[in-house]
Amino acid sequence: MAILEIENLSAQAGETPILRGVDLTVRSGEVHALMGPNGSGKSTLSNVIMGHPAYQVTGGDVRLDGRSILSLPTHERALAGLFLAFQYPIAVSGVSVANFIRTAVNARRTRRDPEDRGVPLGEFMRELRAQMARLDLDAAFAGRYLNDGFSGGEKKRLEMLQLAMLRPSLAILDEPDSGLDIDAVRTVASGVEALRGPDIGFLIITHYQRILTYVRPDRVHVMVGGRIVRSGGQELAQELEAQGYDWLKRETEDAAV
Ligand code: ADP
Ligand code: MG
Repeated sequence: MAILEIENLSAQAGETPILRGVDLTVRSGEVHALMGPNGSGKSTLSNVIMGHPAYQVTGGDVRLDGRSILSLPTHERALAGLFLAFQYPIAVSGVSVANFIRTAVNARRTRRDPEDRGVPLGEFMRELRAQMARLDLDAAFAGRYLNDGFSGGEKKRLEMLQLAMLRPSLAILDEPDSGLDIDAVRTVASGVEALRGPDIGFLIITHYQRILTYVRPDRVHVMVGGRIVRSGGQELAQELEAQGYDWLKRETEDAAV
């Protein structure tokens, strides 16, 4: 059972405040959706949770299982069970998909048991191939360099492949659906559904309600101007789909006056 608690979190990039008091709690077993207009701070929140050096936390806290993680470097946060699927994954030429994921999987194993000598290659490759097949990725994908020349859909599916192989306790997916056609959105959604269960919590960041018709969230939150301005159930996502974000933006501006 893992619990991620974000409390009154404020953060800035350089001199620019972006997050202005975010409160959000995600437990394993739960699926939360975070929606909001472009530029509202959704990616910044996910980056701050993971400890991206471009952002300074100016107030509040982020706790995992009751312990503040703000002083931990990013790889320690990952070893503690946090995972972030990037909105814009970067290419790393020279590092193959299989090697990258195997290194990460083994780092987690060694953290749990210092005597662990790593997952045997054959066993690892069998599991990797099975997960790739689920994500409609062909076998050659394992040998390609990370995101090097990948299509938009392949990039998103590589993020999902890492998620499936690493089995974090809390996964943040930053717009896993952006730029995908409907079949690819379904593939990503079924990847989430396959992993969904009592041992993993999800924070799915999305601009559109579309993916939420396949992955039904327990809670929906809306971020505007660096704050969560509304939380509700699935019906909130539908309301946003029908009405857009402008009414919430106006409401937030009025409240700020
Ligand atoms: P979202 O993911 O909701 O579209 P972002 O978190 O990417 O929003 O961005 C929120 C705001 O913060 C935007 O105005 C963006 O330009 C700004 N911002 C994000 N990261 C940085 C950065 N590293 N340096 C300066 N400004 C940033
Ligand atoms: Mg974003």
